Amino acid sequence: MQITAHRLGRSQQSTLDRIASIAEPAARLVQQHMGGSVGHVELAVTGRSSIPDLIVQAHRPLVGRLDRRQVRLLRCYGTTTINPAGTLVIINADKCRRVSEIDKTVVHELGHAVQFARPGARNLLIRSLRNNYGIEAMTDAEAHAANRQVDADEVEAEQLERLARKLTQLT
Ligand SMILES: [Zn+2]
Repeated sequence: MQITAHRLGRSQQSTLDRIASIAEPAARLVQQHMGGSVGHVELAVTGRSSIPDLIVQAHRPLVGRLDRRQVRLLRCYGTTTINPAGTLVIINADKCRRVSEIDKTVVHELGHAVQFARPGARNLLIRSLRNNYGIEAMTDAEAHAANRQVDADEVEAEQLERLARKLTQLT
């Protein structure tokens, strides 16, 4: 797993340090629990204002043209998406401050990485992105199926968060 920091302030250094120490054990826990691989993961730690740029960089080669204004600001703890090499996990260092929040978020997002590495998932995600960016519309049935998948993935990732307790015991 490749961990990168983007424009982090000094107050966010502890978030980066915690992520660096738990990322690999968290990936092992998640993979063991889900019975699948996280695949190629790039994990970016950054402040909220840099998140849209990272998403645009990840998506542009996958969908063709993409305007920076089409990506909105996120207020969440983290987000996971695909990039040309595999999966991009972004941790919002403005939100993730406490160890318990960091651990839960990393486990949750790595769960999405396993989901996105499952057969067929990547194609569906690219189709959804092209639909969402107004490049190529999905049919209603496809959009419905894609939304159902997003909902199911979210439920599964939330259930994984309890694995974060095991990281506290490890470190
Ligand atoms: Zn999620």
